[in-house]
Amino acid sequence: LVKLRGVRKSFGAALVLTGIDLDVRRGEVVVVIGPSGSGKSTLCRCINRLETADEGVIEIDGKALPREGKELARLRADVGMVFQSFNLFAHKTVRENVMLGPVRVRGLSREEARERADRLLARVGVGDHGDKFPAQLSGGQQQRVAIARALAMEPEVLLFDEPTSALDPEMIHEVLDVMTGLAAEGMTMIVVTHEMGFAREAADRVVFMADGGIAETAAPETFFADPKTARAQEFLARVL
Ligand code: ATP
Ligand code: MG
Repeated sequence: LVKLRGVRKSFGAALVLTGIDLDVRRGEVVVVIGPSGSGKSTLCRCINRLETADEGVIEIDGKALPREGKELARLRADVGMVFQSFNLFAHKTVRENVMLGPVRVRGLSREEARERADRLLARVGVGDHGDKFPAQLSGGQQQRVAIARALAMEPEVLLFDEPTSALDPEMIHEVLDVMTGLAAEGMTMIVVTHEMGFAREAADRVVFMADGGIAETAAPETFFADPKTARAQEFLARVL
């Protein structure tokens, strides 16, 4: 469903992605881990075109991501993204936040978008908060709204970039529970996280990044029990 070949990205003189090859099958959950600065966020941002890769191919469902234009907007809508910092519109209600994309990009009527928003807000456990503003919700609730907003676009794949890193410990699990539920329902997901418990439980595959490349990729049980590269061994010794 997602295919990357030779994806390279530099910022100035710094080579941040050194040639990434990655295939994610439909329904697969890939957890990306690795040290700070290894290029995890940049990889996500290239996949949904918040950044443009310098070289290489990125395909979603067999369609190459175009560099710009209307086609890009439509294909980008197939890739949902959830950020560490929620990125909700502060001056719109929770419901409006979830309705916006479907109305503007998918062409739903406000009525249809409202129904979809309320259904998704209920699904992530914040169904009672649609009329509130984001600041009136806890961090964990806001992040679940952000997940509902991403789902409202009916994306082919969902990217998560450290979705729980900004949350207090007691709110982390409520977001991870929603993500685990999505994984179980067959959502295709690429998840950058430091939550090794989530990686063990929900991941079909772990991708370990170091120095802008994929150093190692394996099933979680293999990766955690028997990491092959020295970089991964060092990393796990620090985080586990
Ligand atoms: P972290 O775990 O800290 O989030 P990361 O693996 O997500 O790290 P990236 O954010 O992808 O790493 O950054 C990889 C490298 O690219 C870093 O050295 C970073 O400083 C650099 N970088 C990222 N974005 C930019 C940018 N917009 N301009 C310049 N350099 C950037
Ligand atoms: Mg990052």
